[in-house]
Amino acid sequence: MSSVEYDLYTFIAGAALKEGQTFHLKCNCGGTVPITPPPKNEFVVCPNCLAKIKFLVVEGDPGYIIGRDSSGDPTLLPVQGSTAKPLQQLSADERKEILERVKKQLGKTDNVED
Ligand SMILES: [Zn+2]
Repeated sequence: MSSVEYDLYTFIAGAALKEGQTFHLKCNCGGTVPITPPPKNEFVVCPNCLAKIKFLVVEGDPGYIIGRDSSGDPTLLPVQGSTAKPLQQLSADERKEILERVKKQLGKTDNVED
């Protein structure tokens, strides 16, 4: 068990951190935390609400990550710095479509077919 507890977890597109410019991580409170690549730590502290935010850098620009909601169902999680359309701007149908697509992509890693 880890002794470090984080208030928030978020994903950042690796592509956004390769630009060589400061990335502004958005906190749930509406505040932003600047990250200058390469990040020195795996977490930042929001200067506004003091939340400790753990960030995970995902390779490239995947757009979305599949996570699980409180009932254990797969759900889409946003990736900050991605060029993909923000989740909150997607319709329910669009979200469903992306979720299905990402699930298929994940399934392909151990089941190669064309
Ligand atoms: Zn905050």
